[in-house]
Amino acid sequence: MIHINQLQKSYGKVKAVNGIDLRVEAGELFAFLGPNGAGKTTTIRILTGLTRIGYGEVRIGGHDIIKAPREAKRQCGLVPQHINLDSELSVRENLEIHGRLFGMDSGQRRRKIEELLAYVELLDRIDTLVKQLSGGLKRRLMIARALMHEPKVLFLDEPTVGLDPAIRRRIWSLIKRVQQDGTTIFLTTHYIEEAEFLAARVAFLDQGKIVALDSPQALMDSLGKWAVDQMNGEAMQTQYFASREEAAKFAASQNCGVSLRRVNLQDAFLSLTGKKVLS
Ligand code: ATP
Repeated sequence: MIHINQLQKSYGKVKAVNGIDLRVEAGELFAFLGPNGAGKTTTIRILTGLTRIGYGEVRIGGHDIIKAPREAKRQCGLVPQHINLDSELSVRENLEIHGRLFGMDSGQRRRKIEELLAYVELLDRIDTLVKQLSGGLKRRLMIARALMHEPKVLFLDEPTVGLDPAIRRRIWSLIKRVQQDGTTIFLTTHYIEEAEFLAARVAFLDQGKIVALDSPQALMDSLGKWAVDQMNGEAMQTQYFASREEAAKFAASQNCGVSLRRVNLQDAFLSLTGKKVLS
Protein backbone atom coordinates (compact mmCIF):
# COMPACT_ATOMS: atom_id res chain seq x y z
CA MET A 1 0.00 0.00 0.00
CA ILE A 2 2.88 2.38 0.82
CA HIS A 3 6.18 2.08 -1.07
CA ILE A 4 9.01 4.42 -0.17
CA ASN A 5 12.38 4.28 -1.91
CA GLN A 6 15.40 6.34 -0.90
CA LEU A 7 13.30 9.21 0.44
CA GLN A 8 15.19 12.37 1.35
CA LYS A 9 14.21 15.90 2.34
CA SER A 10 16.46 18.71 3.53
CA TYR A 11 15.75 22.14 4.96
CA GLY A 12 18.97 24.07 4.41
CA LYS A 13 21.62 22.01 6.13
CA VAL A 14 19.10 19.97 8.15
CA LYS A 15 18.44 16.53 6.68
CA ALA A 16 14.90 16.06 8.01
CA VAL A 17 14.53 12.75 6.11
CA ASN A 18 17.77 11.05 5.23
CA GLY A 19 17.26 8.02 2.98
CA ILE A 20 14.17 6.08 4.04
CA ASP A 21 13.18 2.78 2.39
CA LEU A 22 9.93 1.25 3.56
CA ARG A 23 6.98 -0.96 2.52
CA VAL A 24 3.70 -0.95 4.43
CA GLU A 25 1.23 -3.66 3.43
CA ALA A 26 -2.53 -3.16 2.99
CA GLY A 27 -4.36 -3.52 6.30
CA GLU A 28 -1.23 -3.04 8.41
CA LEU A 29 -0.97 -0.81 11.49
CA PHE A 30 2.50 0.65 11.27
CA ALA A 31 4.20 3.15 13.61
CA PHE A 32 7.09 5.55 13.28
CA LEU A 33 8.55 6.08 16.74
CA GLY A 34 11.11 8.79 17.42
CA PRO A 35 11.96 11.82 19.54
CA ASN A 36 11.09 15.41 18.61
CA GLY A 37 12.84 16.42 15.39
CA ALA A 38 13.42 12.84 14.18
CA GLY A 39 11.64 13.52 10.87
CA LYS A 40 8.23 11.92 11.54
CA THR A 41 6.03 14.87 10.54
CA THR A 42 8.12 15.64 7.46
CA THR A 43 7.71 12.04 6.26
CA ILE A 44 3.94 12.07 6.80
CA ARG A 45 3.62 15.43 5.07
CA ILE A 46 5.52 14.10 2.05
CA LEU A 47 3.43 10.89 1.91
CA THR A 48 0.18 12.88 2.01
CA GLY A 49 1.27 15.42 -0.60
CA LEU A 50 1.62 18.43 1.72
CA THR A 51 5.39 18.77 1.45
CA ARG A 52 7.33 18.43 -1.76
CA ILE A 53 9.54 15.37 -2.00
CA GLY A 54 13.28 16.15 -1.91
CA TYR A 55 14.66 13.03 -3.55
CA GLY A 56 13.41 9.47 -3.96
CA GLU A 57 10.17 7.76 -4.89
CA VAL A 58 6.86 7.27 -3.07
CA ARG A 59 3.81 5.29 -4.19
CA ILE A 60 0.53 5.15 -2.30
CA GLY A 61 -1.84 2.39 -3.38
CA GLY A 62 0.27 2.03 -6.55
CA HIS A 63 0.09 5.76 -7.44
CA ASP A 64 3.34 7.72 -7.69
CA ILE A 65 3.00 10.92 -5.65
CA ILE A 66 4.85 12.98 -8.28
CA LYS A 67 3.41 11.46 -11.47
CA ALA A 68 -0.15 10.95 -10.18
CA PRO A 69 -0.56 13.33 -7.22
CA ARG A 70 -4.38 13.50 -7.28
CA GLU A 71 -4.83 9.73 -7.33
CA ALA A 72 -2.18 9.27 -4.63
CA LYS A 73 -3.79 11.94 -2.43
CA ARG A 74 -7.24 10.37 -2.91
CA GLN A 75 -5.91 7.24 -1.13
CA CYS A 76 -4.89 9.23 1.96
CA GLY A 77 -6.75 10.49 5.01
CA LEU A 78 -4.68 12.71 7.30
CA VAL A 79 -5.07 13.55 10.97
CA PRO A 80 -2.40 16.22 11.54
CA GLN A 81 -0.58 16.77 14.81
CA HIS A 82 -2.22 20.11 15.57
CA ILE A 83 -5.96 20.57 15.74
CA ASN A 84 -7.00 22.33 12.55
CA LEU A 85 -10.78 22.15 12.76
CA ASP A 86 -12.84 25.28 12.19
CA SER A 87 -13.79 26.07 15.77
CA GLU A 88 -16.57 28.55 14.85
CA LEU A 89 -18.40 25.89 12.82
CA SER A 90 -20.38 22.90 14.03
CA VAL A 91 -19.26 19.28 13.96
CA ARG A 92 -21.50 18.64 10.93
CA GLU A 93 -20.25 21.73 9.06
CA ASN A 94 -16.61 20.71 9.50
CA LEU A 95 -17.33 17.35 7.88
CA GLU A 96 -19.50 18.99 5.19
CA ILE A 97 -16.58 21.14 4.01
CA HIS A 98 -14.30 18.12 3.73
CA GLY A 99 -16.94 16.15 1.80
CA ARG A 100 -17.38 19.03 -0.66
CA LEU A 101 -13.62 19.30 -1.16
CA PHE A 102 -13.61 15.67 -2.25
CA GLY A 103 -16.54 16.15 -4.60
CA MET A 104 -19.15 14.19 -2.63
CA ASP A 105 -22.77 15.08 -3.46
CA SER A 106 -25.17 16.22 -0.72
CA GLY A 107 -26.79 12.79 -0.28
CA GLN A 108 -23.41 11.08 0.04
CA ARG A 109 -22.25 13.72 2.50
CA ARG A 110 -25.32 13.40 4.72
CA ARG A 111 -25.12 9.60 4.84
CA LYS A 112 -21.38 9.55 5.46
CA ILE A 113 -21.50 12.24 8.17
CA GLU A 114 -24.13 10.34 10.14
CA GLU A 115 -22.37 7.02 9.66
CA LEU A 116 -18.99 8.41 10.77
CA LEU A 117 -20.31 10.39 13.72
CA ALA A 118 -22.03 7.23 14.97
CA TYR A 119 -18.75 5.36 14.42
CA VAL A 120 -16.66 7.81 16.50
CA GLU A 121 -19.53 8.21 19.02
CA LEU A 122 -20.18 11.87 18.33
CA LEU A 123 -23.60 11.71 16.72
CA ASP A 124 -25.24 13.42 19.70
CA ARG A 125 -22.86 16.40 19.12
CA ILE A 126 -23.61 16.84 15.43
CA ASP A 127 -24.82 20.43 15.84
CA THR A 128 -22.37 21.42 18.60
CA LEU A 129 -19.84 24.12 17.78
CA VAL A 130 -16.32 22.68 17.64
CA LYS A 131 -15.07 25.28 20.12
CA GLN A 132 -17.33 23.66 22.74
CA LEU A 133 -15.71 20.20 22.35
CA SER A 134 -12.99 18.81 24.64
CA GLY A 135 -9.55 17.89 23.23
CA GLY A 136 -10.42 14.17 23.06
CA LEU A 137 -13.68 14.83 21.19
CA LYS A 138 -11.86 17.10 18.72
CA ARG A 139 -9.39 14.28 18.00
CA ARG A 140 -12.28 11.90 17.34
CA LEU A 141 -13.84 14.44 15.00
CA MET A 142 -10.53 14.82 13.15
CA ILE A 143 -10.41 11.06 12.63
CA ALA A 144 -14.00 11.11 11.31
CA ARG A 145 -13.12 13.97 8.98
CA ALA A 146 -10.08 12.12 7.62
CA LEU A 147 -12.30 9.10 6.86
CA MET A 148 -15.01 11.08 5.00
CA HIS A 149 -13.76 10.26 1.49
CA GLU A 150 -13.08 6.59 2.40
CA PRO A 151 -9.28 6.66 2.09
CA LYS A 152 -7.33 3.41 1.85
CA VAL A 153 -4.66 4.71 4.26
CA LEU A 154 -5.17 6.77 7.40
CA PHE A 155 -2.15 8.82 8.46
CA LEU A 156 -2.13 9.91 12.09
CA ASP A 157 0.58 12.33 13.21
CA GLU A 158 0.95 12.06 17.01
CA PRO A 159 -2.77 11.23 17.43
CA THR A 160 -2.89 11.44 21.23
CA VAL A 161 -0.40 14.19 22.01
CA GLY A 162 -1.54 16.20 25.02
CA LEU A 163 -4.45 13.91 25.95
CA ASP A 164 -4.85 12.33 29.37
CA PRO A 165 -4.28 8.54 29.68
CA ALA A 166 -7.97 7.52 29.78
CA ILE A 167 -8.87 9.55 26.69
CA ARG A 168 -5.72 8.34 24.97
CA ARG A 169 -6.94 4.74 25.42
CA ARG A 170 -10.29 5.57 23.82
CA ILE A 171 -8.51 6.99 20.80
CA TRP A 172 -6.37 3.82 20.65
CA SER A 173 -9.52 1.65 20.58
CA LEU A 174 -10.91 3.78 17.77
CA ILE A 175 -7.69 3.51 15.75
CA LYS A 176 -7.68 -0.30 16.18
CA ARG A 177 -11.30 -0.47 15.06
CA VAL A 178 -10.56 1.58 11.92
CA GLN A 179 -7.75 -0.85 11.09
CA GLN A 180 -9.88 -3.92 11.78
CA ASP A 181 -12.49 -2.49 9.41
CA GLY A 182 -9.90 -2.61 6.62
CA THR A 183 -8.01 0.71 6.55
CA THR A 184 -4.21 0.71 6.53
CA ILE A 185 -2.87 2.86 9.38
CA PHE A 186 0.42 4.76 9.42
CA LEU A 187 1.00 6.63 12.64
CA THR A 188 3.80 8.59 14.20
CA THR A 189 4.32 8.87 17.91
CA HIS A 190 6.88 9.73 20.52
CA TYR A 191 4.97 7.70 23.12
CA ILE A 192 6.60 4.28 23.57
CA GLU A 193 3.43 2.82 25.07
CA GLU A 194 1.36 3.91 22.08
CA ALA A 195 3.64 2.18 19.57
CA GLU A 196 3.84 -0.92 21.75
CA PHE A 197 0.06 -1.15 22.20
CA LEU A 198 -1.05 -0.34 18.66
CA ALA A 199 1.49 -1.35 16.09
CA ALA A 200 2.29 -4.73 14.57
CA ARG A 201 5.54 -3.24 13.23
CA VAL A 202 7.48 -0.25 14.48
CA ALA A 203 10.27 1.73 12.84
CA PHE A 204 12.62 3.59 15.17
CA LEU A 205 13.41 6.92 13.55
CA ASP A 206 16.40 9.02 14.54
CA GLN A 207 17.84 12.02 12.67
CA GLY A 208 15.83 11.24 9.57
CA LYS A 209 16.87 7.58 9.36
CA ILE A 210 15.21 4.29 10.23
CA VAL A 211 17.60 2.70 12.73
CA ALA A 212 15.49 -0.43 13.39
CA LEU A 213 12.28 -1.91 12.04
CA ASP A 214 10.44 -4.93 13.45
CA SER A 215 7.58 -5.98 15.71
CA PRO A 216 7.70 -4.40 19.20
CA GLN A 217 8.30 -7.87 20.67
CA ALA A 218 11.21 -8.66 18.32
CA LEU A 219 12.80 -5.25 19.02
CA MET A 220 12.63 -5.92 22.76
CA ASP A 221 13.80 -9.53 22.41
CA SER A 222 16.93 -8.30 20.61
CA LEU A 223 18.14 -7.11 24.05
CA GLY A 224 16.85 -9.93 26.27
CA LYS A 225 13.78 -10.49 28.41
CA TRP A 226 14.87 -9.03 31.76
CA ALA A 227 16.69 -5.86 32.79
CA VAL A 228 18.58 -4.91 35.94
CA ASP A 229 18.95 -1.17 36.64
CA GLN A 230 21.56 0.20 39.00
CA MET A 231 22.90 3.64 39.76
CA ASN A 232 26.52 4.25 38.86
CA GLY A 233 27.30 7.65 40.37
CA GLU A 234 24.76 10.01 38.76
CA ALA A 235 24.02 7.70 35.84
CA MET A 236 21.62 4.77 35.59
CA GLN A 237 23.15 1.65 34.05
CA THR A 238 21.10 -1.24 32.74
CA GLN A 239 22.14 -4.83 32.03
CA TYR A 240 19.99 -7.22 30.00
CA PHE A 241 19.46 -10.96 30.50
CA ALA A 242 17.72 -13.78 28.67
CA SER A 243 16.08 -15.22 31.82
CA ARG A 244 14.77 -14.01 35.15
CA GLU A 245 17.12 -16.43 36.94
CA GLU A 246 20.22 -14.92 35.31
CA ALA A 247 19.00 -11.39 36.05
CA ALA A 248 18.20 -12.26 39.70
CA LYS A 249 21.61 -13.93 40.12
CA PHE A 250 23.38 -10.82 38.81
CA ALA A 251 21.20 -8.52 40.97
CA ALA A 252 22.01 -10.57 44.10
CA SER A 253 25.75 -10.30 43.39
CA GLN A 254 25.69 -6.47 43.47
CA ASN A 255 26.48 -4.49 46.61
CA CYS A 256 24.45 -1.39 45.79
CA GLY A 257 20.70 -1.02 45.20
CA VAL A 258 19.39 -2.58 42.01
CA SER A 259 15.97 -3.12 40.51
CA LEU A 260 14.83 -5.94 38.30
CA ARG A 261 12.13 -5.56 35.61
CA ARG A 262 10.95 -6.76 32.19
CA VAL A 263 12.67 -5.28 29.13
CA ASN A 264 10.50 -2.65 27.38
CA LEU A 265 10.52 -0.85 24.05
CA GLN A 266 12.20 2.19 25.64
CA ASP A 267 15.24 -0.04 26.36
CA ALA A 268 15.41 -1.09 22.72
CA PHE A 269 15.14 2.51 21.51
CA LEU A 270 17.70 3.75 24.01
CA SER A 271 20.22 1.05 23.18
CA LEU A 272 19.95 1.78 19.44
CA THR A 273 19.95 5.57 19.54
CA GLY A 274 21.34 6.53 22.94
CA LYS A 275 18.19 8.65 23.37
CA LYS A 276 14.95 8.32 25.27
CA VAL A 277 11.47 8.87 23.89
CA LEU A 278 8.55 9.51 26.20
CA SER A 279 6.91 6.56 27.93
P1 ATP B 1 8.09 16.50 16.34
O1 ATP B 1 7.70 15.32 17.14
O2 ATP B 1 8.70 17.60 17.16
O3 ATP B 1 7.01 16.99 15.40
P2 ATP B 1 9.33 15.17 14.08
O4 ATP B 1 9.96 13.84 14.31
O5 ATP B 1 7.96 15.15 13.49
O6 ATP B 1 9.33 16.02 15.42
P3 ATP B 1 10.02 16.97 11.94
O7 ATP B 1 8.98 17.97 12.34
O8 ATP B 1 9.79 16.18 10.71
O9 ATP B 1 10.33 15.97 13.15
O10 ATP B 1 11.41 17.75 11.82
C1 ATP B 1 12.62 17.13 11.39
C2 ATP B 1 13.69 18.20 11.29
O11 ATP B 1 13.40 19.07 10.20
C3 ATP B 1 13.81 19.08 12.53
O12 ATP B 1 15.17 19.39 12.72
C4 ATP B 1 13.02 20.31 12.15
O13 ATP B 1 13.48 21.44 12.84
C5 ATP B 1 13.28 20.42 10.66
N1 ATP B 1 12.15 21.02 9.93
C6 ATP B 1 10.91 20.48 9.81
N2 ATP B 1 10.12 21.27 9.06
C7 ATP B 1 10.87 22.36 8.70
C8 ATP B 1 10.62 23.53 7.92
N3 ATP B 1 9.44 23.75 7.33
N4 ATP B 1 11.64 24.40 7.77
C9 ATP B 1 12.84 24.18 8.33
N5 ATP B 1 13.15 23.09 9.08
C10 ATP B 1 12.18 22.18 9.26
